[in-house]
Amino acid sequence: MSSWAKAVFFWLSIAVTMGFASNIVAQGQAAHYDLLLKGGHVIDPANDVDRVADVAITAGKIAAVAESIPANEAGKVVDVSGLYVTPGLIDIHFHVGHGGAPLDWFAPEARSLAAPLGVPADIALSAGVTTLVDAGTSGAETFLQEKMEVIDHAKVRVLAFLNIVANGMNGGLEQTVDQMDPQLCAQTIRKFPDVIVGVKTAHYWTEKPWDALHEPWAAVDRAEECGKLANVPVMFDFWPRPERTYEELILKKMRPGDIHTHVFAQQFPILLADGKLNPILTEARARGVIFDVGHGAGSFWFRNAVPAVKQGFIPDSMSTDLHMGNFTILSMTEVMSKFLAMGVPIEDLIRRSTLNPAREIRRTELGTLSVGREADVAVLEVLHGHFGYIDNGVARMNGNVKLIARMTIRAGRILYDPSGLSMVEWEKAPRQYFTTPGLGGSLPARADDYPRN
Ligand SMILES: [Zn+2]
Repeated sequence: MSSWAKAVFFWLSIAVTMGFASNIVAQGQAAHYDLLLKGGHVIDPANDVDRVADVAITAGKIAAVAESIPANEAGKVVDVSGLYVTPGLIDIHFHVGHGGAPLDWFAPEARSLAAPLGVPADIALSAGVTTLVDAGTSGAETFLQEKMEVIDHAKVRVLAFLNIVANGMNGGLEQTVDQMDPQLCAQTIRKFPDVIVGVKTAHYWTEKPWDALHEPWAAVDRAEECGKLANVPVMFDFWPRPERTYEELILKKMRPGDIHTHVFAQQFPILLADGKLNPILTEARARGVIFDVGHGAGSFWFRNAVPAVKQGFIPDSMSTDLHMGNFTILSMTEVMSKFLAMGVPIEDLIRRSTLNPAREIRRTELGTLSVGREADVAVLEVLHGHFGYIDNGVARMNGNVKLIARMTIRAGRILYDPSGLSMVEWEKAPRQYFTTPGLGGSLPARADDYPRN
């Protein structure tokens, strides 16, 4: 594990056990709210909010969003002035690590090291993400393992697209058509309706000659069949070939609500020879096809993204495709930063990272700060300076803005706060901070009653 990942886990563990409060204005009966985020710029596209406001949280739920909520009404107040307060981000293309996850086939030389494809789910919290969707790491035969090992224990909310291939990304790397069973896929989705939000197909037969066992559209057709049976969207990772064109995928095969991920990968005809945006994209959008970033380790090229964005084509949802092959250089806020640096306004980016993905996975209770919803909140900062951004073609784009997460709150609990926004300056810490715990006393002293873990 890199030192960066270690640092993340340090914070995930410390933040949940250590409760030093800063700016505790009032304690006791006067407090209506557990937590008050004061003075931030709230962006909540679901409610058309884009202004400075306070956000109050009680019992894990959003309790109020208002222009000014008195500090003495909250048990704990965090000053977030100068920062953005948004719904917790939703990353709909992620790969979680579990015992059934395959080896890291992005780095063949690493296979013998048994490095898993997926990464620990809670890494997502360090980029303001409170809901992630595993994109088909597991299929019908391996899903239960993923659920028991990761989904049921993660602090971040984990949902999943089920791979149409029964053993997921394991084994034949999604090349065995016999493993693509629409009935079994749909049955499994119906069994876990709270967690599985759709179907995924990927990586199918990208270069070898066609044969009797490998028809060009086999993976796409079977995934669609499962999607229809279970009445859920399908997410497509796709490689066009003369017998299997991109145009046919997005204009004929995909249903409204289906998602094309990796939209700015090198293999898609995003631009015509004259540099104009390919009109099939607009046509597909008009019929309800969704386009998702799915940045990944091989699916994002500035030569497609920058001209497309300049011509007004911005993917409907931001997403990382985070896995072992890119987690040291990629995060949700890094993906969003690239678009921010291309000139996409912050409000629009937040919409494409909260409200839009929530709609795409049909979970509209997520991605909003509506009163009564679970308090999943990101506190973000836009930095100004000189920044370099990289794509998968090993090219750079310069930018002068960068988005980072400063705090992540999941169901009302502060799970990520690496700069101590919610903590007291050490000199002002309560007396127990300065005492050494006795033998076996390993927990830091607590300074407030705010529920943590
Ligand atoms: Zn992926």
